[in-house]
Amino acid sequence: MSEDLPPVQAAVPSVDRLMRLPPVQALIATYGRASVADAVRGNLAALRERLTLRGRDALPEASEGAIVARLEMTLEAESRQAPGPVFNLTGTVLHTNLGRAPLPPEAIEAMARVSEGASNLEYDLTRGRRGDRESYLEGWLCRLTGAEAASVVNNNAAAVLLALNTLALRKEVVVSRGELIEIGDSFRMPDLMARSGCKLREVGTTNRTHLRDYEDAIGPRTSLIMKVHTSNYVVEGFTATVGEKELASVAHGQGLALIVDLGSGTLVDLGRYGLPHEPTATESLANGADLVTFSGDKLLGGPQAGIILGRKPLIAKLRRNPMKRALRVDKMTVAALGSVLGLYADPDRLPQRLPALRDLTRPAAEIEALARRLMGPLSDRLSAIATVKLVPCQSQIGSGALPGKRLASVALAIQPKGGKAGRPSLTRIASAFRALPKPVIGRAREDAYLFDLRCLDDEAGFVAQLANLPSKWRARP
Ligand SMILES: *Cc1c(COP(=O)(O)O)cnc(C)c1O
Repeated sequence: MSEDLPPVQAAVPSVDRLMRLPPVQALIATYGRASVADAVRGNLAALRERLTLRGRDALPEASEGAIVARLEMTLEAESRQAPGPVFNLTGTVLHTNLGRAPLPPEAIEAMARVSEGASNLEYDLTRGRRGDRESYLEGWLCRLTGAEAASVVNNNAAAVLLALNTLALRKEVVVSRGELIEIGDSFRMPDLMARSGCKLREVGTTNRTHLRDYEDAIGPRTSLIMKVHTSNYVVEGFTATVGEKELASVAHGQGLALIVDLGSGTLVDLGRYGLPHEPTATESLANGADLVTFSGDKLLGGPQAGIILGRKPLIAKLRRNPMKRALRVDKMTVAALGSVLGLYADPDRLPQRLPALRDLTRPAAEIEALARRLMGPLSDRLSAIATVKLVPCQSQIGSGALPGKRLASVALAIQPKGGKAGRPSLTRIASAFRALPKPVIGRAREDAYLFDLRCLDDEAGFVAQLANLPSKWRARP
């Protein structure tokens, strides 16, 4: 330590010295030398700042024991950033930030089996030669939807990219202004079209587009008409859109193709399970769409994937595009999607077997019974800081499916109250639940933090870990 440092700063141990301590060596064995060295440097920088600000008062924080304890916390918090399970009590069933559709056990097992070792991913076991990774999925997709052909890529954005790049490179694609969607912060239809190498030809206005708008826009450079399902918003009031049937007849009359991006897209009519009707891929094909694209992990309830259905010659063209290779799915997706599609063979049992559909169709009475059982343990655990109430609420489907439609549900509302232990803010309460071994994610509403119980299946696991909340949050009897 150099002489001109203020005396308090001299208390800061060196990085080298800390790195050699046995408890830090143990951290290195767990987290790796580079992460621990970063954490040590960050910790020491913060310590120096506190010493400058608070002088001798901050000296206890400079002891090796205190530094090691802080390092352990930092590294443990960082490791929690690795993807892991959480309780989704946000009330949004297909939550993009929380990984969208939960997979059924069959699909998880299928993924595990192909991941363990070699598999017949691209090997034809009948003929004993090279096979195709898509043919199994294509068989299922065609049987379930009546499509002539099918292809599967990494996600629906990739499906749109591949379709446009293959069929409309350096040509015009006619789209309604009312359908130029943005989903999340990184998927904007106009940007994607530009990157796929085609030129967007916008027609109509935000709220109204007529058949003649499409007809007027078609010229020698037009290659496609595209219809995009407005996934995450509803245009209400004075509106007009052109249906798929009419668009198909205009497109086909001019020798063009109609492609429909369904976004969520389903393989069955959700109306049969008491849910609002969402356009199915089969309907779009029957209406004359030449290609239909949708996601595997939205309403379909499978792994992340982009599904493309449609006419055989068009699908064949897509397959020949070199981009296809860059967008293809891996064996785990093939295995999981194959297994989920298999469940669709028996649509009557789907709500019991497909977790996404089970959550979406869970009766409000069942959710309410669950809320009543959890009320006691939760309000007891928070008795010093909050009241817990059972409140009716509305779940959302999420991922842009059925925008504007809500599902009746029940939530537990945590309302902070004053008391000996203080009155923690909603932010503080939310962060304590996120810090649990299996983080719990709810949603804040004005004066309460809400747990919508629609997607809670592990009731016992939820209750057991309440013990890890701050002990002063429970009133002493
Ligand atoms: C969600 C969505 C997409 C993007 O799908 P990903 O599978 O997330 O890539 C594209 N178009 C529409 C209409 C969507 O709703």
